[in-house]
Amino acid sequence: MDRTFSVSVDLDEIRCYLSIHGLGNDLAAGAADAVYDRCISRFLDLFSELGVSATFFVIGSDLERPENRAWVQAIHNAGHEVANHSYGHAYDLSQWDEDRILGDLQRAQDAIHRCVGEAPVGFRAPGYTLSPTLKSAIAEVGFAYSSSAFPSPAYYGAKALALAWIRARGRQSHSVLGTPRVLASPAEPHRHGSVVEIPMTVGPRWLGGVPLIGTTVVLGNKHSNRLLCRSVMGRSHVHLECHGIDLADAKQDGLQALAKHQPDLRRTLDHKRQQLDRSIRFFLGQGYRPATLASVAQLVG
Ligand SMILES: [Zn+2]
Repeated sequence: MDRTFSVSVDLDEIRCYLSIHGLGNDLAAGAADAVYDRCISRFLDLFSELGVSATFFVIGSDLERPENRAWVQAIHNAGHEVANHSYGHAYDLSQWDEDRILGDLQRAQDAIHRCVGEAPVGFRAPGYTLSPTLKSAIAEVGFAYSSSAFPSPAYYGAKALALAWIRARGRQSHSVLGTPRVLASPAEPHRHGSVVEIPMTVGPRWLGGVPLIGTTVVLGNKHSNRLLCRSVMGRSHVHLECHGIDLADAKQDGLQALAKHQPDLRRTLDHKRQQLDRSIRFFLGQGYRPATLASVAQLVG
């Protein structure tokens, strides 16, 4: 049986994290663009070493900066897939009316099309938050797939706690919890009408439903990551979802202020790269075929 393995990277820029934590913009010079200017090249090096074609989710408004357009062209030219992560990365996008959502999604399609010469076939919702209106807009734009469902009780619980904590500290997070119904959605890629949904990969219940995402992997060590990777090994498709910030270095990239709020930023770049490298090699070593999310969507009947 053909088993596929995908890596995706959300290119959420540093301002998205400031917004989640309700923090002001008091960063070191140059730190605001660290994901584009520092982290993308680290991911491209890692993927080139491992021979993996990945899927990068781009926020349309980031392409207003010329340097970012050049980075997205470099991603495209290296043979990776470029997909749509909305135009404005509004955490409450799923709560907008359909016309407004369509405007945002189409604006990102146009910006990415202008940048790389083709329109994306895939979409990921900001903050993984879907709604019936957003799903209908995704189909209306004509996307072949959405990769937004995150059926992890561990992630959902941690997000609920974090939002309560931020509120209790008197700060205002712009993140949105979304409906717990997502926890009941299927673990493997599946079709909803014209659109295939490719969920985040979540470990089994006996492991507390810990997700196979960059944050878990970079916070883990070789033993915990091996356990997590082994726990999802029988599946026909495994998806390691990362964020650009997973290969940030708090010290080198001037992100010490944010590191106080983000435990993953307190790990060294060497440690994080090694853990991601090991986890990807694990699946390749088990006979999984690396595939972009666009090509996985084509395999779903
Ligand atoms: Zn995002």
